[in-house]
Amino acid sequence: MAYNASVSFVPLSGLFLKSVNILTMLDTRPLLLETDFPPLSRTSLETLQVNLGYLCNLSCTHCHVNAGPKRKELMSREVVDMVLEFLEVKNIRQLDLTGGAPEMNPHFRDLVVKARALDVEVIDRCNLMILLESGYEDLGQFLADNQVVITASLPCYLEENVEKQRGKGIYDSSIEALQKLNALGYGRDPHLQLNLVYNPIDLNLPPAQAGLESDYKRILKEKFDIDFNQLYTITNMPISRFGGMLLAKGLYEKYMAILKDNYSPANLETVMCRSLVSVDYLGFVYDCDFNQMLNMPLLATSKPKPHLKDLLDENLENRPIAIGDHCYGCTAGQGSSCGGALND
Ligand code: SF4
Ligand code: SF4
Repeated sequence: MAYNASVSFVPLSGLFLKSVNILTMLDTRPLLLETDFPPLSRTSLETLQVNLGYLCNLSCTHCHVNAGPKRKELMSREVVDMVLEFLEVKNIRQLDLTGGAPEMNPHFRDLVVKARALDVEVIDRCNLMILLESGYEDLGQFLADNQVVITASLPCYLEENVEKQRGKGIYDSSIEALQKLNALGYGRDPHLQLNLVYNPIDLNLPPAQAGLESDYKRILKEKFDIDFNQLYTITNMPISRFGGMLLAKGLYEKYMAILKDNYSPANLETVMCRSLVSVDYLGFVYDCDFNQMLNMPLLATSKPKPHLKDLLDENLENRPIAIGDHCYGCTAGQGSSCGGALND
Protein backbone atom coordinates (compact mmCIF):
# COMPACT_ATOMS: atom_id res chain seq x y z
CA MET A 1 0.00 0.00 0.00
CA ALA A 2 1.18 3.52 -0.72
CA TYR A 3 2.88 5.39 2.04
CA ASN A 4 0.99 8.53 2.99
CA ALA A 5 2.85 10.79 5.37
CA SER A 6 -0.05 13.17 5.86
CA VAL A 7 -2.92 10.83 6.48
CA SER A 8 -4.30 12.90 9.30
CA PHE A 9 -3.29 15.49 11.82
CA VAL A 10 -4.85 15.22 15.23
CA PRO A 11 -3.02 17.25 17.87
CA LEU A 12 -2.64 15.44 21.16
CA SER A 13 -1.28 18.43 23.03
CA GLY A 14 -4.25 18.60 25.40
CA LEU A 15 -3.04 15.56 27.22
CA PHE A 16 0.51 16.18 28.16
CA LEU A 17 2.88 15.78 31.03
CA LYS A 18 0.40 16.44 33.85
CA SER A 19 -1.65 13.43 32.90
CA VAL A 20 1.01 10.83 32.11
CA ASN A 21 0.16 8.71 35.15
CA ILE A 22 -3.51 8.44 34.17
CA LEU A 23 -2.53 7.65 30.61
CA THR A 24 -0.27 4.78 31.57
CA MET A 25 -3.23 3.13 33.31
CA LEU A 26 -5.08 2.99 29.99
CA ASP A 27 -3.58 -0.17 28.54
CA THR A 28 -3.80 -1.12 24.85
CA ARG A 29 -2.30 -4.58 25.48
CA PRO A 30 -5.57 -6.56 25.50
CA LEU A 31 -6.52 -4.96 22.17
CA LEU A 32 -3.20 -5.83 20.51
CA LEU A 33 -2.86 -9.52 21.32
CA GLU A 34 -5.34 -10.85 18.78
CA THR A 35 -3.78 -10.10 15.44
CA ASP A 36 -3.78 -10.96 11.75
CA PHE A 37 -0.11 -9.87 11.42
CA PRO A 38 1.86 -12.50 9.43
CA PRO A 39 4.19 -14.92 11.27
CA LEU A 40 7.84 -13.87 11.73
CA SER A 41 10.99 -15.79 12.60
CA ARG A 42 14.51 -14.73 13.56
CA THR A 43 17.36 -14.86 11.06
CA SER A 44 20.62 -14.29 12.97
CA LEU A 45 21.30 -12.62 16.30
CA GLU A 46 23.44 -9.54 15.76
CA THR A 47 22.25 -7.06 18.38
CA LEU A 48 21.54 -7.34 22.08
CA GLN A 49 19.30 -4.49 23.17
CA VAL A 50 19.46 -4.06 26.92
CA ASN A 51 17.17 -1.97 29.04
CA LEU A 52 19.19 -0.87 32.06
CA GLY A 53 16.11 0.30 33.96
CA TYR A 54 13.22 2.72 33.92
CA LEU A 55 14.83 5.53 35.89
CA CYS A 56 14.98 8.66 33.72
CA ASN A 57 15.53 12.36 34.25
CA LEU A 58 12.58 13.09 31.88
CA SER A 59 8.92 11.94 31.46
CA CYS A 60 8.15 12.25 27.74
CA THR A 61 4.60 11.89 26.44
CA HIS A 62 5.56 9.38 23.73
CA CYS A 63 7.71 7.23 26.05
CA HIS A 64 6.92 3.57 25.42
CA VAL A 65 8.57 2.41 28.64
CA ASN A 66 6.80 4.89 30.95
CA ALA A 67 10.18 5.93 32.31
CA GLY A 68 10.59 8.79 34.75
CA PRO A 69 12.47 10.23 37.74
CA LYS A 70 10.47 8.19 40.27
CA ARG A 71 11.03 4.77 38.74
CA LYS A 72 13.20 2.51 40.89
CA GLU A 73 13.77 -0.44 38.54
CA LEU A 74 17.48 -0.78 37.64
CA MET A 75 19.55 -3.68 36.27
CA SER A 76 21.70 -5.25 39.01
CA ARG A 77 25.43 -5.99 38.87
CA GLU A 78 24.65 -9.70 38.60
CA VAL A 79 22.50 -9.25 35.50
CA VAL A 80 25.03 -6.84 33.96
CA ASP A 81 27.62 -9.62 34.31
CA MET A 82 25.22 -12.02 32.56
CA VAL A 83 24.86 -9.54 29.71
CA LEU A 84 28.65 -9.48 29.31
CA GLU A 85 28.83 -13.28 29.37
CA PHE A 86 26.05 -13.49 26.77
CA LEU A 87 27.85 -11.03 24.47
CA GLU A 88 31.03 -13.06 24.66
CA VAL A 89 29.53 -16.56 24.38
CA LYS A 90 27.22 -15.61 21.50
CA ASN A 91 29.80 -13.42 19.76
CA ILE A 92 27.30 -10.57 19.48
CA ARG A 93 28.72 -7.54 17.71
CA GLN A 94 26.39 -4.77 18.87
CA LEU A 95 25.09 -3.77 22.32
CA ASP A 96 22.24 -1.25 22.26
CA LEU A 97 21.70 0.35 25.67
CA THR A 98 18.30 1.84 26.48
CA GLY A 99 16.29 2.81 29.52
CA GLY A 100 15.03 5.13 31.02
CA ALA A 101 18.25 7.00 30.86
CA PRO A 102 20.75 4.10 30.66
CA GLU A 103 23.55 6.33 31.96
CA MET A 104 21.72 6.60 35.32
CA ASN A 105 22.33 2.91 36.04
CA PRO A 106 25.35 2.76 38.41
CA HIS A 107 26.90 -0.09 36.35
CA PHE A 108 26.59 1.71 33.00
CA ARG A 109 30.23 2.76 32.67
CA ASP A 110 31.65 -0.60 33.66
CA LEU A 111 29.36 -2.37 31.18
CA VAL A 112 30.47 -0.02 28.40
CA VAL A 113 34.18 -0.44 29.12
CA LYS A 114 33.94 -4.25 29.29
CA ALA A 115 31.78 -4.55 26.18
CA ARG A 116 34.22 -2.36 24.25
CA ALA A 117 37.07 -4.58 25.45
CA LEU A 118 35.21 -7.44 23.72
CA ASP A 119 35.23 -5.27 20.57
CA VAL A 120 31.45 -4.91 20.70
CA GLU A 121 29.97 -1.73 19.21
CA VAL A 122 28.03 0.05 21.97
CA ILE A 123 25.08 2.33 21.28
CA ASP A 124 23.90 4.69 24.02
CA ARG A 125 20.28 5.83 23.56
CA CYS A 126 20.80 9.20 25.16
CA ASN A 127 18.14 11.80 25.90
CA LEU A 128 20.74 14.63 25.70
CA MET A 129 19.45 16.31 28.87
CA ILE A 130 21.40 13.80 30.93
CA LEU A 131 24.64 15.32 29.60
CA LEU A 132 23.75 18.56 31.40
CA GLU A 133 22.61 17.05 34.70
CA SER A 134 24.68 17.61 37.79
CA GLY A 135 26.89 14.58 38.41
CA TYR A 136 27.09 13.75 34.68
CA GLU A 137 29.42 16.57 33.57
CA ASP A 138 32.08 14.09 32.39
CA LEU A 139 29.64 11.69 30.67
CA GLY A 140 30.24 13.07 27.17
CA GLN A 141 34.01 12.67 27.53
CA PHE A 142 33.56 9.11 28.84
CA LEU A 143 31.40 8.21 25.83
CA ALA A 144 33.91 9.76 23.43
CA ASP A 145 36.87 8.00 25.09
CA ASN A 146 35.11 4.66 24.54
CA GLN A 147 33.87 5.55 21.03
CA VAL A 148 30.29 4.84 22.06
CA VAL A 149 27.74 5.55 19.30
CA ILE A 150 25.26 8.13 20.61
CA THR A 151 21.69 7.92 19.39
CA ALA A 152 19.88 10.92 20.80
CA SER A 153 16.25 11.94 20.78
CA LEU A 154 15.47 15.26 19.16
CA PRO A 155 11.82 14.78 18.16
CA CYS A 156 11.86 17.81 15.85
CA TYR A 157 14.17 20.63 14.77
CA LEU A 158 11.41 23.08 15.74
CA GLU A 159 11.38 24.30 19.33
CA GLU A 160 7.58 24.24 19.66
CA ASN A 161 7.29 20.59 18.65
CA VAL A 162 10.13 19.42 20.89
CA GLU A 163 8.59 21.16 23.91
CA LYS A 164 5.12 19.78 23.20
CA GLN A 165 6.54 16.28 23.37
CA ARG A 166 9.24 16.56 26.02
CA GLY A 167 8.46 19.62 28.13
CA LYS A 168 9.41 23.27 28.50
CA GLY A 169 13.06 24.29 28.16
CA ILE A 170 14.05 20.95 26.62
CA TYR A 171 14.81 22.39 23.19
CA ASP A 172 17.43 24.91 24.32
CA SER A 173 19.05 22.32 26.57
CA SER A 174 19.11 19.77 23.73
CA ILE A 175 20.88 22.28 21.51
CA GLU A 176 23.41 23.00 24.27
CA ALA A 177 24.03 19.26 24.73
CA LEU A 178 24.48 18.71 20.98
CA GLN A 179 26.99 21.57 20.83
CA LYS A 180 28.84 19.98 23.74
CA LEU A 181 28.97 16.65 21.86
CA ASN A 182 30.19 18.37 18.68
CA ALA A 183 32.95 20.04 20.70
CA LEU A 184 34.06 16.54 21.80
CA GLY A 185 34.19 15.47 18.14
CA TYR A 186 30.79 13.73 17.94
CA GLY A 187 29.19 14.12 14.52
CA ARG A 188 32.53 15.36 13.14
CA ASP A 189 35.20 12.74 13.90
CA PRO A 190 34.40 9.57 11.86
CA HIS A 191 34.95 7.45 15.00
CA LEU A 192 32.38 9.40 17.03
CA GLN A 193 28.93 8.76 15.57
CA LEU A 194 26.05 10.99 16.65
CA ASN A 195 22.60 10.02 15.36
CA LEU A 196 19.31 11.77 16.08
CA VAL A 197 15.84 10.29 16.48
CA TYR A 198 12.60 11.86 15.27
CA ASN A 199 9.16 10.80 16.54
CA PRO A 200 5.94 12.31 15.13
CA ILE A 201 4.02 14.41 17.65
CA ASP A 202 0.61 13.50 16.25
CA LEU A 203 -1.14 10.63 14.50
CA ASN A 204 0.95 10.90 11.35
CA LEU A 205 3.51 8.38 10.26
CA PRO A 206 7.01 9.88 10.05
CA PRO A 207 7.82 11.68 6.78
CA ALA A 208 10.47 10.25 4.42
CA GLN A 209 13.65 9.83 6.47
CA ALA A 210 16.17 11.09 3.89
CA GLY A 211 14.28 14.32 3.21
CA LEU A 212 13.75 15.05 6.89
CA GLU A 213 17.43 14.32 7.60
CA SER A 214 18.41 16.98 5.04
CA ASP A 215 16.07 19.49 6.70
CA TYR A 216 17.44 18.69 10.16
CA LYS A 217 21.04 18.99 8.95
CA ARG A 218 20.45 22.28 7.15
CA ILE A 219 18.50 23.96 9.94
CA LEU A 220 20.65 22.77 12.83
CA LYS A 221 23.81 23.81 10.95
CA GLU A 222 22.47 27.23 9.95
CA LYS A 223 20.99 28.11 13.30
CA PHE A 224 23.36 26.45 15.77
CA ASP A 225 26.42 25.11 13.85
CA ILE A 226 25.43 21.58 14.87
CA ASP A 227 26.62 18.50 12.95
CA PHE A 228 25.35 14.94 13.25
CA ASN A 229 25.56 11.71 11.24
CA GLN A 230 22.14 10.18 10.60
CA LEU A 231 18.53 10.91 11.41
CA TYR A 232 16.34 7.96 12.40
CA THR A 233 12.59 8.43 11.97
CA ILE A 234 10.62 6.18 14.32
CA THR A 235 6.87 5.53 14.20
CA ASN A 236 5.02 5.94 17.51
CA MET A 237 3.88 2.55 18.77
CA PRO A 238 0.30 2.16 20.05
CA ILE A 239 1.49 0.96 23.45
CA SER A 240 2.30 2.38 26.91
CA ARG A 241 2.00 6.15 27.31
CA PHE A 242 1.23 6.87 23.64
CA GLY A 243 -1.26 3.99 23.55
CA GLY A 244 -2.90 5.40 26.70
CA MET A 245 -3.23 8.78 25.02
CA LEU A 246 -4.88 7.16 21.99
CA LEU A 247 -7.41 5.41 24.22
CA ALA A 248 -8.07 8.52 26.33
CA LYS A 249 -8.72 10.59 23.19
CA GLY A 250 -10.79 7.88 21.46
CA LEU A 251 -8.16 7.71 18.71
CA TYR A 252 -6.93 4.15 19.10
CA GLU A 253 -9.02 2.70 16.24
CA LYS A 254 -8.11 5.59 13.99
CA TYR A 255 -4.37 5.18 14.63
CA MET A 256 -4.48 1.42 14.10
CA ALA A 257 -6.32 1.99 10.81
CA ILE A 258 -3.51 4.35 9.72
CA LEU A 259 -0.88 1.72 10.55
CA LYS A 260 -2.78 -1.06 8.78
CA ASP A 261 -3.75 1.03 5.73
CA ASN A 262 -0.05 1.79 5.24
CA TYR A 263 1.12 -1.80 5.75
CA SER A 264 4.10 -2.59 3.52
CA PRO A 265 4.97 -6.32 3.40
CA ALA A 266 8.46 -5.56 2.05
CA ASN A 267 9.35 -4.39 5.57
CA LEU A 268 8.83 -7.90 6.97
CA GLU A 269 12.31 -8.84 5.72
CA THR A 270 14.07 -6.24 7.85
CA VAL A 271 11.99 -5.66 10.99
CA MET A 272 14.49 -5.41 13.81
CA CYS A 273 13.29 -8.46 15.78
CA ARG A 274 14.71 -10.69 13.05
CA SER A 275 18.26 -9.89 14.15
CA LEU A 276 17.87 -8.61 17.72
CA VAL A 277 16.65 -9.63 21.15
CA SER A 278 15.72 -7.28 23.96
CA VAL A 279 16.61 -7.83 27.62
CA ASP A 280 14.75 -6.26 30.53
CA TYR A 281 16.39 -4.94 33.68
CA LEU A 282 15.89 -8.31 35.39
CA GLY A 283 17.52 -10.27 32.54
CA PHE A 284 14.37 -11.68 30.94
CA VAL A 285 14.43 -11.75 27.15
CA TYR A 286 11.90 -10.55 24.54
CA ASP A 287 11.78 -10.34 20.77
CA CYS A 288 11.97 -6.53 20.92
CA ASP A 289 11.67 -3.57 23.26
CA PHE A 290 7.97 -3.17 22.44
CA ASN A 291 7.21 -6.78 23.33
CA GLN A 292 9.12 -6.21 26.54
CA MET A 293 6.77 -3.38 27.46
CA LEU A 294 3.77 -5.51 26.55
CA ASN A 295 5.16 -8.38 28.65
CA MET A 296 5.17 -10.73 25.65
CA PRO A 297 8.19 -12.99 26.34
CA LEU A 298 10.47 -14.52 23.71
CA LEU A 299 8.71 -17.46 22.05
CA ALA A 300 11.89 -19.18 20.95
CA THR A 301 12.28 -21.73 23.77
CA SER A 302 10.07 -24.07 25.76
CA LYS A 303 10.40 -21.76 28.80
CA PRO A 304 7.33 -19.57 29.30
CA LYS A 305 9.53 -16.59 30.21
CA PRO A 306 13.16 -17.17 29.12
CA HIS A 307 16.03 -15.50 30.95
CA LEU A 308 19.46 -14.66 29.49
CA LYS A 309 20.96 -17.59 31.38
CA ASP A 310 18.47 -19.97 29.68
CA LEU A 311 19.65 -18.89 26.24
CA LEU A 312 23.41 -19.35 26.47
CA ASP A 313 23.16 -22.75 24.76
CA GLU A 314 20.19 -21.95 22.51
CA ASN A 315 20.40 -21.17 18.81
CA LEU A 316 17.69 -18.60 18.14
CA GLU A 317 17.89 -18.74 14.34
CA ASN A 318 14.64 -19.64 12.58
CA ARG A 319 12.72 -19.54 15.87
CA PRO A 320 9.29 -17.85 15.87
CA ILE A 321 8.77 -14.29 17.10
CA ALA A 322 5.86 -13.18 19.33
CA ILE A 323 3.65 -10.84 17.30
CA GLY A 324 0.66 -8.58 17.93
CA ASP A 325 -1.21 -5.76 16.21
CA HIS A 326 1.49 -3.32 17.39
CA CYS A 327 3.80 -4.98 14.80
CA TYR A 328 1.96 -2.93 12.19
CA GLY A 329 3.85 0.02 13.70
CA CYS A 330 7.09 -1.50 12.37
CA THR A 331 5.80 -2.22 8.87
CA ALA A 332 3.74 0.91 8.06
CA GLY A 333 5.01 3.10 5.22
CA GLN A 334 8.81 3.23 5.08
CA GLY A 335 8.97 0.92 8.11
CA SER A 336 10.35 1.68 11.55
CA SER A 337 12.94 0.29 13.93
CA CYS A 338 15.32 1.52 16.61
CA GLY A 339 17.67 2.20 13.67
CA GLY A 340 15.05 4.29 11.86
CA ALA A 341 13.24 3.64 8.57
CA LEU A 342 13.61 0.17 7.07
CA ASN A 343 13.44 1.03 3.38
CA ASP A 344 14.24 4.75 3.08
S1 SF4 B 1 13.98 10.39 27.69
FE1 SF4 B 1 13.46 8.45 26.69
S2 SF4 B 1 13.29 6.96 28.35
FE2 SF4 B 1 13.23 9.01 29.29
S3 SF4 B 1 11.04 9.48 29.44
FE3 SF4 B 1 11.78 10.35 27.51
S4 SF4 B 1 11.39 8.76 25.96
FE4 SF4 B 1 11.25 7.78 27.99
S1 SF4 C 1 6.84 -4.88 17.27
FE1 SF4 C 1 8.21 -4.82 15.51
S2 SF4 C 1 10.17 -5.50 16.26
FE2 SF4 C 1 8.62 -6.11 17.77
S3 SF4 C 1 8.01 -8.19 17.21
FE3 SF4 C 1 6.62 -6.82 16.17
S4 SF4 C 1 7.54 -6.49 14.14
FE4 SF4 C 1 9.11 -7.32 15.47
